[in-house]
Amino acid sequence: MSQRFKGCEIIQSTRASSVHRAGWVMVTPWKIIENGYVRVENNRVVEVGTSVFGTHGIDHGAGVLMPGFVNAHLHLELSALKGAVSFDKGFQAWVGELLVKRGALGESALKNAARTGVDQVMASGTLGVGDISTLGITRELVVNSGLSGVWFQEMLGSTPGPFEFAGDARGKLNCSLAGHAPHTSSPELLARLKERATANRLPFSIHVAESSDESRFLETGRGDWADFLTERAIDFSSWPLPAVSPVDYLDRLGILDPLTVAVHLLRVNDRDIDILKGRGVKTVVCPRSNRNLHKRLPDIKRLLDRGLTPGLGTDSLASNDSLSIFDEMAFVGGNYPGIAPSDILAMATVYGAGALGLAERMGTLLPGRAGDFLYLPVAASTSETLLENIIRHE
Ligand SMILES: [Zn+2]
Repeated sequence: MSQRFKGCEIIQSTRASSVHRAGWVMVTPWKIIENGYVRVENNRVVEVGTSVFGTHGIDHGAGVLMPGFVNAHLHLELSALKGAVSFDKGFQAWVGELLVKRGALGESALKNAARTGVDQVMASGTLGVGDISTLGITRELVVNSGLSGVWFQEMLGSTPGPFEFAGDARGKLNCSLAGHAPHTSSPELLARLKERATANRLPFSIHVAESSDESRFLETGRGDWADFLTERAIDFSSWPLPAVSPVDYLDRLGILDPLTVAVHLLRVNDRDIDILKGRGVKTVVCPRSNRNLHKRLPDIKRLLDRGLTPGLGTDSLASNDSLSIFDEMAFVGGNYPGIAPSDILAMATVYGAGALGLAERMGTLLPGRAGDFLYLPVAASTSETLLENIIRHE
């Protein structure tokens, strides 16, 4: 780890057994130990507790030992487009400009920027990712990065492409499938991708209820998106339209279950949230990207209040300023005064891990979790101020 962000240190235990101490240990956002220790054996957390005088081990300082962050939704392959695509002309114009500029850059420029993106992700304390790739060019990079999580091959249109499910050799990173969105992919394609991911017991990711065009098309069968498909001779007459909402539409297709990750949820009502909760669907929100592209924020408070546990994602550098979960947490802290700091930390750690099927591996420092975690030099006098100071850490 050569690059560090905000003094964030990634601790990776190489010895068979080690003990790490600090002023605070955040086991979970709801279980915080003052003057605590973490005992690691064979790269697994085996014990956490309160340090007693004379406890040997590595004293990291007055700050906090905590789980690594999870960036539950990003597109590393768009990293070269940072600052290159205008947000001002609306979402469809943004997509069009993105496709043109992505095509003009070429594969090696996209890959080089993605590599820098991985460095930035890790330097800001993220140890788990849900990376979405349409071009398929970041697979090797992510598999060999040392990050945990899921690399998703995203598909759209109506015909599934070839795909192999193999992940990394150490079992930290899985490769699975993603459908782009309910309005850009045929029902048959979505069902096929979902079926293949489920057969491998892996998460299936999809953008849901993000744009107004998506909602209007699925809710009426008409609008700009219907015209767009018609102009391209794409026949959507067999799609089960109109639906009550994008969430209702995916429910009709039978693809909402605990292995589906629904991303964005910018346009959902209580009924949609209850469907997602009832089906056990995993959820991820990307509020800074939504603010930039759609001038609108997801109602995260409502998602939480109705029992969902959304992970936090940055989306890509084509729609966001950074791939740092610190920045995403600070944004949530500043724009959602009703959300408790413990919930914000949970979204950035345990909820994101749960969304990607990583809850047994990471997201907390409970016994059994991986022995790599973070030390942050954040001072605090109480556990409440500790959480606030992590979110606001500069
Ligand atoms: Zn996305």
